[in-house]
Amino acid sequence: MSTGGSGASRELVHRVQRSIDRIMGALPPRVARGIARDRTSTVTNGRLMVLAPHPDDETLACGVTIQRTLDRGREVTVVVASDGRHGNPGLVAPERMATIRRGELTRATAVLGVTPSHLIMLGFEDATLSDHEDALAESIQEIIEINRPDVVISPCPWDLHPDHAALGRVARTIVEGRSVLHLEYLVWGWDQPVRLAIRLGRRAISTRGSWTFPALPVVVDGTGYLDGKAEALACHSSQFSPAAVLHGRSVGGSGPLGSGFLRLIDYESELFFPRATSHRASANAERRTC
Ligand SMILES: [Zn+2]
Repeated sequence: MSTGGSGASRELVHRVQRSIDRIMGALPPRVARGIARDRTSTVTNGRLMVLAPHPDDETLACGVTIQRTLDRGREVTVVVASDGRHGNPGLVAPERMATIRRGELTRATAVLGVTPSHLIMLGFEDATLSDHEDALAESIQEIIEINRPDVVISPCPWDLHPDHAALGRVARTIVEGRSVLHLEYLVWGWDQPVRLAIRLGRRAISTRGSWTFPALPVVVDGTGYLDGKAEALACHSSQFSPAAVLHGRSVGGSGPLGSGFLRLIDYESELFFPRATSHRASANAERRTC
């Protein structure tokens, strides 16, 4: 009886949560952009390294920033942690899916202007990144030592997707203390603001006094680069609709990147959260810009 009761109340909580999420719609990312500072020039002014948990996150989060940085003659390296083999479960065998997504990623990054030698696929199994944080850290550490980026963009550790959170944690431990501008991006969570708020609240409680609010978000202006981003995103066709894998390109649909999800992402700019530790590097980068 008690199990049934708690199940019912959990379902009620979830229903209320979903209703609030629906009512809020795309409000949180719009509010964040409303208070963000435009740092297009600073962010694109150095050697850039983008860390992505899955093929497609590099374009979703940083498609504009990558193009702008390359246009300024700076080097861009894209590191993708997983092969995305479970990106279409039940419809395509994992090995085939990994091959498909490798091809999509190669085409998408080529559209953005990244040279093949600057695209690094680490090949971890998606949905397991939190089990491989040490190995991930070792691989990324090596790459950072070789590439010596000025700007590192990685997922927020408080993203609701476990792979994003895991790579975000790894990035923080590696980047901490380095003289780089470290920015974080959020992909999963904009459409579930209640869950996101609960997660942040829990973190605040568990870390008590040492928890600090993130610095004000920054944006990179998409003007002139949105077509390139859209073209690159369209290369990830398997993620727009499950049927796309079997029947060719199909933008919009019920896959992870279906129209419902993309609606939540404001294409006019890319939004990042600067790490507090990167203030000095940020100031240096700004001085270089002036
Ligand atoms: Zn992802």
